[in-house]
Amino acid sequence: MTDTALLAVLVAGLAGLFAGAAFTASRRRAGERARPTFRSSPHYTEGLHCLATGQLGTAIHELGKVLRDHPDAVEVQQVLSHLHREVGQVERAIEIHRALLDRKDLTRAERAHTLASLGTDFRKAGFLDRAAAAYDEALDVDPRNLHALAGQQKLHEEQRHWREAYEAQTRLARLRKSDDGLVLGFLQVEMGHEARRAGRAREAEEAFRTALSLDRRVFPAHLALAESWMERDPRRSASILEAAIAASPERAYLAFEPLQKAYAAAGEPSRFAALCERLVGQDPRDWRARLALARHLRGAGQAGEALGLLLRALEANPHVLLVHLEVWRTLRALRALSPEEQRYVATVEESALYVDPHICTVCRYRADDMLWRCPHCHEWNTLVEERVGPAAGRP
Ligand SMILES: [Zn+2]
Repeated sequence: MTDTALLAVLVAGLAGLFAGAAFTASRRRAGERARPTFRSSPHYTEGLHCLATGQLGTAIHELGKVLRDHPDAVEVQQVLSHLHREVGQVERAIEIHRALLDRKDLTRAERAHTLASLGTDFRKAGFLDRAAAAYDEALDVDPRNLHALAGQQKLHEEQRHWREAYEAQTRLARLRKSDDGLVLGFLQVEMGHEARRAGRAREAEEAFRTALSLDRRVFPAHLALAESWMERDPRRSASILEAAIAASPERAYLAFEPLQKAYAAAGEPSRFAALCERLVGQDPRDWRARLALARHLRGAGQAGEALGLLLRALEANPHVLLVHLEVWRTLRALRALSPEEQRYVATVEESALYVDPHICTVCRYRADDMLWRCPHCHEWNTLVEERVGPAAGRP
């Protein structure tokens, strides 16, 4: 998680906790426990300031001082334990949560929140059974606790229990009144792949269709459906892939290979060139469509035209190594290379230049290839091609 994202989560968590605290305080009847006035402590203000400026270590230090003077401040303990977990001190977070749960004066919401947080501590520490038990207990105390439900959903995803993750996400969407169609669609795709691996083709197809009815942008659902039709009906396969490109043009390149195959199997290979030309016309920076078209032309013996296309692709995207490599191959096909140059190209082809850098738009995680779920922040559909702009000073 980036510092800014982390901060946003912490501040949002803090605001939520205080809103909850204010709410419970307003409902508190005379004679019930009175909370210490920790908010007047200068360390509290300093702790919040550090939190807002991302100095988590100092925030922990200052809030620790608040607790020394006001050991009963539940809200401060909650925030402090979150901070400990975020900086990797999960054991300390677990200690604080267990001490909190020993108290007899927690409200129902506070107990549920603490149990859910304990579940997340366990999940981060890799104790998945204990995490599941803590989330269950939190939901027994408060079935509408969003923190516990979200944690449970992540836990299912991490264990690749896709159906359970789907059900938890559905409950979350209902409670939050949010549109989670995209995430639900990706979970359906995983359920579909699982069914297909187990030989339940009909169930798999049903899952891929459900995914698309949830959100047309669930690209791997189009890919999976197209694959299942490829042999039986390549025309149908091609039209599924065309629909995928129409729904998410920025992902078009992921459909190029099967589309080329489908058009060829349907006896209409020239439709691939037409599609690429259309895409290039829509976005002059689209080097992937130019690259695909150039490869297609080289394969059809039109290396000269291919070279022109590649040189235009490089004008807009000089940083893309895959295009450079294709230029060398095209020159080789044109017999424009000396034996030394040919040896050089062979070396380049064997080297690690095939990486296709992608980056997560949420946490900036970098991957060498396209992934549907970010391995770092665990969000769906957040990876995009990493584009490097031209060097400063260039026109
Ligand atoms: Zn990420």
